[in-house]
Order: sequence, then structure tokens, then C-alpha cells
Amino acid sequence: MLYDLAIIGGGINGAGVARDAALRGLRVALIEREDWGAGTTGSSTRMVHGGVRYLLYDVPTTRHSSADAARVRRIAPHLTFRIPFLWPLFAQGRVMAEAMEAFLSAYDRYAKLKGGLRHARLSAADARRIEPGLAPELRGALTLDEWGVDVFRLSALNALDAREAGAVLLPHTEAVDFLYDGRSVRGVRVRDRLTGAGREVEARLVLNAGGPWAGRIAAMAGGTVRLRPGKGIHVTFERRIGNYGMILEGVDGRTMFLVPHGAETIVGTTDDDYYGDPARVDYEVTNDEVAYVVEAAARAIPQARAWRPLRAWAGVRNTIFEWGVDADDLSRRHEVVDHEARDGVPGLFSLAGGKLASYRMFAEEATDRVLEKLGRPPAACETGSRPLPGAEVEPDFRALARRYPLPPASIERIWRRLGGRLHDAFADAAPADLAPLCRSEAVTPAEIRHAVRAEGCRTLEDLRRHAHVGAGSCDGLDCAAPAAHLLAELLGWSPERTAAQLDAFLERRWIGRRPVLRGATLAQEEVSRGVHAPAAPPTP
Ligand SMILES: Cc1cc2nc3c(=O)[nH]c(=O)nc-3n(C[C@H](O)[C@H](O)[C@H](O)COP(=O)(O)OP(=O)(O)OC[C@H]3O[C@@H](n4cnc5c(N)ncnc54)[C@H](O)[C@@H]3O)c2cc1C
Repeated sequence: MLYDLAIIGGGINGAGVARDAALRGLRVALIEREDWGAGTTGSSTRMVHGGVRYLLYDVPTTRHSSADAARVRRIAPHLTFRIPFLWPLFAQGRVMAEAMEAFLSAYDRYAKLKGGLRHARLSAADARRIEPGLAPELRGALTLDEWGVDVFRLSALNALDAREAGAVLLPHTEAVDFLYDGRSVRGVRVRDRLTGAGREVEARLVLNAGGPWAGRIAAMAGGTVRLRPGKGIHVTFERRIGNYGMILEGVDGRTMFLVPHGAETIVGTTDDDYYGDPARVDYEVTNDEVAYVVEAAARAIPQARAWRPLRAWAGVRNTIFEWGVDADDLSRRHEVVDHEARDGVPGLFSLAGGKLASYRMFAEEATDRVLEKLGRPPAACETGSRPLPGAEVEPDFRALARRYPLPPASIERIWRRLGGRLHDAFADAAPADLAPLCRSEAVTPAEIRHAVRAEGCRTLEDLRRHAHVGAGSCDGLDCAAPAAHLLAELLGWSPERTAAQLDAFLERRWIGRRPVLRGATLAQEEVSRGVHAPAAPPTP
């Protein structure tokens, strides 16, 4: 089969282009080495925000992100949620407070684009009434409105909608080389990372949507994508600390966010130049980085030092290269690169830069360029108005709880992942399949069966991204084993394979927990890990 377009990388940008291109009638193959959103997308702050900060030095990014965030809300109302933000004001002085308010007045017109409310100025007493934990030095607060999103689901639903429009999805498949017809790139040689099987994916055009890997992928064909990768870490706290997001300031003056997300709270992010392997960045989170993030939260809410951090995680920004600029101040602009024009490599395009919030617009621009290159007539883009699979207006969860034997709050958690497709998952479920096997995230066996059969999950890690197995406060200790056994039954795994999957899953959770533990707690976890770790193979 000769595809029109083979896309390398199933992050939000690759999945977004796959959806757009398939809807515009192209034969598309989407190749992802892991799972939808498993790279930078999955380690973002998870906001389709306008980027209030970029208003200082990158107004087009704020404008595009705000306009596109509104479309993302429209096509995926079940995945997006409003986050009212407080911006606490400390001893900045009256002039600074006035300047910050003027800044937010300028942002109001962009916030409006995405259905956000105008900012308001609160006295210290009013701010404390809605957030009693705020520090005694508080002088007042400003408010603004942003939107959060489930990034794994957003990526997966873009990929799945592409599949419904005819695209072929190849998750767990790594692009290892390009195919050529003379000088021209004519497809991709790939390897299934779970089975080891290799194959060729022939295509008239290849699009490299490898995020922070884009430079390495382009280099395989002799092309160049110059990025300035930046490492950003977040800390997840074990519960929802409040209903408001907060703009925080690090000890060096850097802006950070505190975001209520599902049943937890996320705080981050840092931004430092990073030259390592993007796939290993989670292994490189340090105690110091965690302390820096916690201190930013504690400046606004002193009690933050006593909150229980669940895990820390990291990602690599795929920002476009600039010299002489602080990593934090790099533009978030995006670019579609035609390597024929840039490097004399026909048949290859790359995506560089961008933001989650404006992924749909970036995908539209890239698809326009692909159609032009393939000599196809322009076709209308539908991705800003066509709902993603399962998108529907919020149902009455109490009524649904009378239909399915689950508490309304659990039904809501599940609906926030599946939307209307919840009925597909639950329609013929036996009563035992509706008993949650993960209590913190209300994951049922019925949802896992759906994730495997309808969404193509093949590993326990896939289930974390698709169905939130192990993504809640139990960190997998409660639900990973029953989920692994159910996967084994569905996918015909041997006991050895099941045990290896479980070990690998719990090891990944440990990598996240390790940097947030200290002293006696760390020692205790090390001991139990040593006791329960699989026995080392005998030395020959
Ligand atoms: C810490 C942090 C916080 C952020 N917060 C926000 C935010 O709140 N809002 C916002 O708008 N933006 C945010 N961003 C930016 C945003 O996350 C990125 O711009 C966006 O997710 C990039 O998506 P992508 O698809 O280009 O890259 P990725 O998501 O990295 O996708 C690239 C994919 O390519 C795959 N791949 C790599 N090599 C191969 C290969 N050889 N074969 C097959 N597949 C391959 C990878 O597995 C990966 O899944 C943040 C970024 C970071 C790092």
C-alpha cells in the first residue's frame, strides 16, 4: 500500500495532522514509537491556555493559542475544564500591582477568545476568603481564567478519529530509517518495539512530527531541524488542594503554575536547557528541582511544605533554536519545514516548535502545506468544528448512575475520559465488569476491555494513559496487578510476560516517586523495594 502521507510521531502535533489529513481525504499512516501523547505532550502542564506570559514578548503565540483553545473546548468538551486562577500579590508595591493589573487588562481580550472571564482584582481579605491558606504577607490578588485538558486522551482521540476517517495507526512502532526513490524520501522503515517485527511503510511524503526528537529523525535523511530543547519538571501532590489554579513565583522570579487537575494538584514547571535523550528525562529529576518547585508553592501557601508529593515527572520542550535568549524566554512559535527547500531532501517535511494549545492550528497549516506539495486541490479543514469521538454536552451523572451501578462521581470521572463512548464500554458489561479495580480513578474492567478492543492498548503503560490505571493517588499499588491480569487474559500473555509488564510498570512509578522522597520515607521505600524486587538472575 502506498500512503499519501506517513507521519512519524504520535504526540499532539502528529496525531493532529493525521486527523486533519485523513479527514481531507489523504491515505495516512501514523507511526509512534510508544503511545499517543507519550512524549512531550504527556509531560506538559496540561493547559490549553493563551499563555499570558507570552504577551510580554510573543503576542502572536498568545493570540493563536487563545483562539485555538476555544476550538479545542468546542470539539472536546468532556476533556477540557475551566481553571479559575488566582495571581497572589505580595510586597510588590502599589505601582507593580497596577502594572500587573494593566497587563491582565490587555490579556482580557485574548481570554475572551477562549470563553474566559475578565480578570478581577481582589483585596487580601477577599482572596483569603476563597483560598484561606494564602500567606500572611498577601496584599491582594488578581484573577484570570484558563482551561485544563486531559492531554493523553486529547492525543488518543485525535489518532482514533484519524483512524475512523481511514488512517492506519501504528503505535509502539519506531521509525528506524527512511526509504528512498533516488534522492527522494519515499517512506519509512519501521520496527514494532513489542514484537521486534520490521516492515516498510511507503509514502509519497513523510512528515516528521517527532517533537524533541525531530532533529535526530531529520538527520537520518540528512535534513536539519535546529531546536533548543528545554527540560521542565512538575510535581504532583496527592489531592486536590483547592479549586483554584494559582500563578506562583519561583525564588528566581520565574513564573510557575499550580493547577488542580482531576483528584490531584500539579505544580510546575522549570525550564532549563537540556542536551540528553528525551526518552530518559524522567530519570533525571533531582531533589533540588523538586525543592525549587515546592518553595514556589510555599511562598503563596506556606502549608505547601507539608503537602504530600506523589511523584515528579519531566518533559522536554521542542522549542525552536535561538542564541542568547534565556530558555524561559524562547518563543513558542512553530514552523513547518520543507527539507527539499532547506536541505535538498525531497519528500520530507518536519514540524518544529509550537504549543499544545495551538496544535490544531499548527496541524491545519501543516496539512495545507502537505496538500499543496502533493499537488492536491485545497480541501476545507473540519477539525475546529467536528467533535472528537465521544464529545457531547455534559450528561446528568445522577441519571447515569441509575442506569449503571456506580456512584455519580465515578461515572463523571469515567465520562471525562470517554464522553459518550462510555455507553460503548458499558453497554454489554457484566456486573463484575463495572466494579472499579482502581478506587482512586474509578477504572472498571469494562473500561479496560474497551481500551484494548476499541483503542488498541497493548501494555500496562498504555492503560495508564488511556484509562488512568495507576495514574491516581495509589500510584498503581492498588490497581496495577488486577489490571495486568485482565490484560493478560485479553491479550493472551504468559505468566512471565505478565510479571515482566507489572515489574516494568511499577519501576516507572518508582522513577517518579524517587525524587520526591527524603530521609526515613525514602529509606523505607528502598527497603520494601529491595524485598519485593524480582530476584536478580544468577551470575554465570
Ligand atoms: C514541561 C512542559 C510544560 C508544557 N506545558 C504546556 C502547556 O501547559 N500548554 C501548552 O500549550 N504547551 C505546553 N508545553 C508545550 C507542549 O507540550 C508541546 O509543544 C507539545 O506537546 C509538543 O507536541 P509534539 O507532538 O510536537 O511532540 P511530542 O509530544 O514529543 O510527540 C513526538 C512523538 O514522537 C515520537 N517519536 C520520537 N521518535 C520517534 C521515532 N523514531 N519513531 C516513531 N515515533 C517517534 C515520540 O514518542 C513522541 O510521542 C509544555 C512543554 C513542556 C516540556
